[in-house]
Amino acid sequence: MRRKLVWLDGQNFQGWGCSECAWAFKPQGPLVGESIAEMKTHYERQRDQEFASHACADHPPATKNPR
Ligand SMILES: [Zn+2]
Repeated sequence: MRRKLVWLDGQNFQGWGCSECAWAFKPQGPLVGESIAEMKTHYERQRDQEFASHACADHPPATKNPR
């Protein structure tokens, strides 16, 4: 199975998520960095790490029954 990082643009959530399951990236704590570029790098590294380490089986898609 090939999973990808996808940008989710929903009513309740905007951010990065998984194309194969309901996992979504929620940044932990405030963004830190000396500059915007550094914050972005930090954010992307955190996002990529969490994406790589999550298990799709733990986040079953809930699209069939919203709310
Ligand atoms: Zn997933």
